[in-house]
Amino acid sequence: MDTALNDIVFIIFVAFFLCAALTIFSVRRYRDLARETKARAIAEREARDLVRHDPLTGLPNRGLFDEKLDACLGLARDKHQVAVLLLGLDGFKRIKDTHGHAAEDKALCEFANRVADILRKDGVLARIGNDEFGIVLPAISSLEVPANLAHRIVASATETFAIETGAAELGVGIGIAIAPIDGVNLHELVRRAERALYRAQGDSRSRVRFFEPEMDMHVERRTQIERELRSAITADIIEPYYQPLVSLKGNCIIGFEALARWENRTLGRIPPDVFIPIAEETGLINALGDQLFRRACFDANAWPEAFTLAFNISPIQLRDLSLGQRILSILGQTGFSPRRLEIEITESAFVEKTGVAKTVIDVLRQAGVRIALDDFGTGYATLSQLLSFRLDKIKIDRSFVSHLNDSADSRVIVRAILGLAKGFGLTTTAEGVEDAGQLDFLVANGCTEGQGYMFSDAVPAAGINALLNRESGRTTVAEDGTRSLHA
Ligand code: C2E
Ligand code: CA
Ligand code: CA
Repeated sequence: MDTALNDIVFIIFVAFFLCAALTIFSVRRYRDLARETKARAIAEREARDLVRHDPLTGLPNRGLFDEKLDACLGLARDKHQVAVLLLGLDGFKRIKDTHGHAAEDKALCEFANRVADILRKDGVLARIGNDEFGIVLPAISSLEVPANLAHRIVASATETFAIETGAAELGVGIGIAIAPIDGVNLHELVRRAERALYRAQGDSRSRVRFFEPEMDMHVERRTQIERELRSAITADIIEPYYQPLVSLKGNCIIGFEALARWENRTLGRIPPDVFIPIAEETGLINALGDQLFRRACFDANAWPEAFTLAFNISPIQLRDLSLGQRILSILGQTGFSPRRLEIEITESAFVEKTGVAKTVIDVLRQAGVRIALDDFGTGYATLSQLLSFRLDKIKIDRSFVSHLNDSADSRVIVRAILGLAKGFGLTTTAEGVEDAGQLDFLVANGCTEGQGYMFSDAVPAAGINALLNRESGRTTVAEDGTRSLHA
């Protein structure tokens, strides 16, 4: 009996013990699970935050910026105006190239801090691209609010940025769009702010631009020109005109510069200053350049032997290593002598990707082609950069020549350029000569060649003979066939 009781007590005890152990285990397991779930939720939130924030500055990224802007637009409908500001930084590539990546990052964070300090509490600041920031101002009382903020940001960026290796300078352009005037949905508003930013960055005077409806029209016209340009190239409609280059010593024509001309049926005459940059941006410049060059060689073959052909090559074309060979093969196909060819290149080509440009120029020079530095005085190339390329000629930009009569500064600059060119044994062409006062100064200071409306505007290939004949009353023909033009 006793044994049976003992067994029952023992079983109850074991059962109780097991229950207690199970309860403790369950409670513990429950606690662990709760802790795990919480930790996972935190980790998930952190991961979500991480992909919604820029790791360098800690600011919201493009995705979060869009979300916040969308939320503000939803709340504000019909009640308040919402401002979107897009900030585009200039000069970052320069900082990276001269001071390295770490300096670029430091300046970027410093810029973000300066903007955050200026921004009011309800404003959202985000880093939406490599060197682009976005701001949303949820409820603005007037347009003055985003305008003032933008101007304060521009001013704050003008102070230098301290970096390990010294100090760096930055610029910022700001485009602003307002809801609901410029749009009520996220994409429309951001697109319009981008257009305003594009204008602000292209304008050195006003770095802050509000969106204007004509900016949309500008984009439409550009798209239309691009479309027409493609068919004009396919149909070979763009043709070179020729402006005489005149020797100021012999007072005679020594060659012609080919200048592209395009007459479009619907858009009218489109100047090269408009379509060449579009051809560059769209990658059409190589096809267009080759086409024009082939035609120019063909036309120039009909001129007297002594006349040279000057042809413009854009800096974008000079990024392509095959350019030298392409030019030489067109010369071979048309039978035009490389010794009669002068390639005009602007300063910017000598600054960027100099290795490729140098190789192309070497190939051409070895074949006997001469190289002229176009628009001299307007770029940012250093003298040593320019002299590391072997040049034959400097073309003094029209902006100096046009002020020779009224600006002492222009006279000093032109005299200095002429002295410098003479010192290095280079010939010089003054561009845009329009009157006798300018011509007298240039001749007196040893300029070797001139070009401009005073002598002649550019004429079509078929007009060259007429030009020479029209001038024949004022022209004498030298033994070598060159004609002297008595201006
Ligand atoms: P650029 O090479 O500096 O050409 C000289 C420009 O000055 C030409 O403008 C010419 O018509 C203009 N000009 C000449 N004399 C005078 C003058 O006395 N007064 C004034 N006010 N202007 C004068 P255009 O033909 O409109 O060409 C503008 C620019 O477009 C050229 O500047 C050149 O950079 C580019 N360009 C033209 N044709 C070509 C081309 O076939 N290929 C490339 N890559 N660029 C071209
Ligand atoms: Ca030129
Ligand atoms: Ca020029």
